Amino acid sequence: MEIYLDANATTPVLAQARQAALAAMAEDFGNPSSIHSTGLKARALMDAVRQRAQRLLGTGGGKLLFLSGATEGIQTSVLSALSALRARRELGDRGAELLLYGATEHKAVPEALKHWNQLLGLNLDIQAIPVDRDGRHDLDFLRRHAARAGMVCTMAANNETGVISDLDGIEAALAGSTCFWMVDGVQALGKLSLRLAGRRIDYAPFSGHKLYAPKGIGLLYVREAAPFTPLMAGGGQEGSLRSGTENMSGIAALGAVLAALDDGRSFRDPATLERFRARLAEALQQAFPSLVFNAPLPLSLPTTLNFSVPGLSSKILLDLFDAADVRVSGGSACSAAKAQPSFVLQAMGLPDWQTASAVRLSFGPAVDEGFINEACARIRACGEALRDSCMSPGGTPAELGEGITRYVVDGACCWLIADLASRRAVVIDPLPELNERLAQTLLCQGLQLCAVLDTHSHGDHASSADALWAAAIAAGAPLAAVAAACERDALGWPLGQTQLSLGQQTLRRLALPGHTADSCAYLLSDAASESAVRVAFVGDTVMPGALGRSDFLVSEPLQFADSLRRLADAIGPQTLLAPGHDYDNRFATTLSAEAAAQPLLAGVLNGSLDAEAFAARKAALEQGLALTEYQTLACGARQDACAAAPQELDPAGLRVLLQQQPETIVIDVREPYEQRLSLTPDFDGRLRTPLLAMPLSRLINALPEWLALPAETPLVFFCRSGNRSAQAAAALRRLGHDAAYTLNGGLALWPQPSDALEGALYV
Ligand code: PLP
Repeated sequence: MEIYLDANATTPVLAQARQAALAAMAEDFGNPSSIHSTGLKARALMDAVRQRAQRLLGTGGGKLLFLSGATEGIQTSVLSALSALRARRELGDRGAELLLYGATEHKAVPEALKHWNQLLGLNLDIQAIPVDRDGRHDLDFLRRHAARAGMVCTMAANNETGVISDLDGIEAALAGSTCFWMVDGVQALGKLSLRLAGRRIDYAPFSGHKLYAPKGIGLLYVREAAPFTPLMAGGGQEGSLRSGTENMSGIAALGAVLAALDDGRSFRDPATLERFRARLAEALQQAFPSLVFNAPLPLSLPTTLNFSVPGLSSKILLDLFDAADVRVSGGSACSAAKAQPSFVLQAMGLPDWQTASAVRLSFGPAVDEGFINEACARIRACGEALRDSCMSPGGTPAELGEGITRYVVDGACCWLIADLASRRAVVIDPLPELNERLAQTLLCQGLQLCAVLDTHSHGDHASSADALWAAAIAAGAPLAAVAAACERDALGWPLGQTQLSLGQQTLRRLALPGHTADSCAYLLSDAASESAVRVAFVGDTVMPGALGRSDFLVSEPLQFADSLRRLADAIGPQTLLAPGHDYDNRFATTLSAEAAAQPLLAGVLNGSLDAEAFAARKAALEQGLALTEYQTLACGARQDACAAAPQELDPAGLRVLLQQQPETIVIDVREPYEQRLSLTPDFDGRLRTPLLAMPLSRLINALPEWLALPAETPLVFFCRSGNRSAQAAAALRRLGHDAAYTLNGGLALWPQPSDALEGALYV
């Protein structure tokens, strides 16, 4: 059963609201503007819902309109206030200079202000009201600016943090100002008492879908004397304030929710909600002992928790929770490339790591004790799964991670090579963000760190090798202190050694000056046959789609071509290359794949470009290199723009493929902590080869075997949402295995037995 903890995004529809909506569609389906009996019944229903809402919100003599939701309510409020400001200006009143909004408002507010300010030609100065560390408005700022403000917008409670605004303080700060005041009441509906007419609030938008009504129905309060300009003109519905036939099923459903607020049974009281939240907070603290809450709980809605865990990105936490069928959200908007830091937490002045890794957990007031019990149990199970995967302290790993693991931060790759027989490990290209996590992994798996190597002195960051050694020693990783004490060169290679032994494997170094003078590759081979290199860790010399730039002061552009030839001689065209940067998640590459994608590399390797010609063409490519999508220094000029698109399969397509090609290999690329938490589907019993588990972070270990398969053997990757499996399938195709597929939509769209329970939660 799904545990839905994302109520601030939207809620399921309450059972009685669904019934009311159905009745409004099937029986009382009239148009409230019709004057026959069917229409009159609809109007009576609508009037009754409005009256109930007016009572609940304390609207006094003010108006309460039905509209599509809060975004429309916000537009209408802003249009109304700004039209009135324009009219005042036309009468010679130029007192309004500013439009103010809280720095943590929902984006709909500043965007609406910008839009209408421009469209109405007002060109007022739009400024954000700063918030303090607790997320509350800076009332001093407001006092200082109120006299010059034409409109002030402050939400009642924040959607990301749940922080409740000090509306009394804001009202006092606005004393004497002629500004219009909008309060976005979306997150407060049903949770806070707003007494709208008791305050000088001019406009207050609300949204039904945040409180168990369907999407597409909202409310807008307009104070009795507040100016109003309709956003929608037409048939004159809603007293000509908002034209368009009313959404009667939405209104009926909203009415049922408002009735439920009054029935004393459907919703929990604030003290109970506080208790529920405290239990969830405690479970989170047990699961993630180093967690920090990003907003003070006493100042926030009792239904919202926002937290960050050091060393764990919100993506890791979301995947973890989702595997346990617990739906939470990143405290921030996520783009495909990178989770954007939360602007709300940034406005509160929280440190970067907190703003970039926040998770929001929110529930609605209709949840019951059983729901909270189950949520707490699942949160604890998430903590255990992380511990047992060596991702947080105190676990005993069920299976150890042999071989190579890739970690990636903003496109930069760090590699851990672990040899379990000898318990020896090497880290290549350490990244400061990963120190605690790597130290934890070494300790948990009983691995002895023998070396921390850089492939070159990096242009965009100092090596964090020393900090990783320190973290490993602090964590108590085996013999880290002894190994740390041995003498090493600037890239971390032990002085006087020609190779590093990792049990049955060895690591050798190959100098590759070019990107920097000290660039090198680390070549991993089986001890028995050193000439057969399994994987070359090449840093930025060759990346998927690019060669490392050589326009730094410390570069050696004229030596780059020779270095590439030396690399080709040492490893051959099909050996896997593990790059230092991988902006498009291709995981690994080969000289053969890169020569096919990059004409410059092909020219060097086939002898048609000499060192000078190569350097000149490369320099031309590298002129004015822009920052990467992560706003970091680009490590090379991209030469292959289009990635091989993954081939997508939907569940029906996969069933057909499994039937037609029984040799199909199906691979779960989710991480071990996710696999531990969720049932793995048996794909209707159609698998003829065993299901493989190969987490994306360890994909490189399986590539040699998969690339050696007959070209027509289908490889089907799946994960939670289809995102990571698409990356794996695209990587395989790029490396030459065309029959690589992704299960589109991932397990989220694969029919689950639990689908039968859909909606059961709130019946
Ligand atoms: N304001 C706040 C505080 C919100 O949380 C949301 C929804 O995310 C909105 C406005 C927009 O609401 P609607 O989806 O009804 O347009």
